[in-house]
Amino acid sequence: MDIESSLRDWDGETVIIQYDRATGAWIFVAIHSTRLGPAGGGTRMKPYPDVEAALQDALRLAAAMTYKFAVPGIPRGGGKAVIDVPTELDPQSRPALLRRYGELVRQLGGLFYTGPDVGTSSEDMDIVAETGAPYVFGRTVAAGGAGDSGPITALGVFAGLQVACEFLYGDASLQGRRVLVQGVGHVGGTLIQYLRAAGAEVLFNDIDDAAIRHFHNELGLPFVPSESVYETECDIFAPCALGGVLNSDTIPRLKCRAVAGGANNQLGSLEDAERLWARGILYAPDYVINVGGAMAIPGMEALGWSQAQAEKEVVQSVQKALRQVFAVAAAEGITTEAAARRIAEERLQAGT
Ligand code: NAD
Repeated sequence: MDIESSLRDWDGETVIIQYDRATGAWIFVAIHSTRLGPAGGGTRMKPYPDVEAALQDALRLAAAMTYKFAVPGIPRGGGKAVIDVPTELDPQSRPALLRRYGELVRQLGGLFYTGPDVGTSSEDMDIVAETGAPYVFGRTVAAGGAGDSGPITALGVFAGLQVACEFLYGDASLQGRRVLVQGVGHVGGTLIQYLRAAGAEVLFNDIDDAAIRHFHNELGLPFVPSESVYETECDIFAPCALGGVLNSDTIPRLKCRAVAGGANNQLGSLEDAERLWARGILYAPDYVINVGGAMAIPGMEALGWSQAQAEKEVVQSVQKALRQVFAVAAAEGITTEAAARRIAEERLQAGT
């Protein structure tokens, strides 16, 4: 889709576009909704095949942030920034690019709050905050921030898996449940720790040699190669790597009772929620189960939550929201994705 049609067809509020002449990077800040509060969302930084693809990603991810905050009733709107960098970006020019991006965030004057996402780290947020404060979250602990959002996101995902078990088996325990985790990075890797501590049987998939060595050779977990990941029998498939993994190609092959994981935008399209439903596979909508970081990091940095309080808030919030989503879907015979959207839309309509 070209840029003009992408913008025209989008149901969000504003897109700020900046071309960074010094590096050739394109910066998109997509503000999907400020109905419930100022827009919040991470900064994704990576090379895209073309500028349209980068814009599309920003638009889609910003909309998901609106739902992410609306379902549990967090008073924040949905936004997302994408920095489409040239593949040959000189690493030395990266800090200056991040500072220029920080200036843009500051100029927005609180319309948009940001933090780390794919391709950016807490260390990067320290740099963005030099020019972008006070609108930058997820800085390093050394710089006064709350650090990596992956582990607390994983805690929320784990809490969501308990609700999925409760719904499927009438028992929230993960003891003896077979869980396949796809992607063992910040979120998936920590999720595995929680699963093992709870007595689950954990299998994993990744494409990174160092990660495979650690989880297979050192921890002794069974490794599932990418070509057989969707056919592998398990209770719960937990996508924690990429978006778009649930689609017309993969869904017919799944041999699981539920899909519940931390990756953003897991559904290729909305029809894929119907496909999962038709196969009797319980789906935990990604933006409901992976809200942990987006909720806890601002909570700790702006509201003064302790780590323990943040963990409690995340677990309670994810479990309450997911129970509501599953209950609405079951009562009305609609997909869990449709149920989550309905709950979010109702909150957006009401403005609370
Ligand atoms: P990460 O980069 O730390 O980890 C991703 C892992 O997935 C890596 O180990 C990588 O090797 C692996 N991977 C990449 N491509 C793969 C493929 N094709 N097949 C299998 N494995 C593959 O990222 P993260 O912070 O753990 O985030 C993971 C997902 O969760 C992303 O979709 C992200 O948007 C989402 N998410 C993250 C957070 C957070 O706080 N970090 C919050 C909400 C959602």
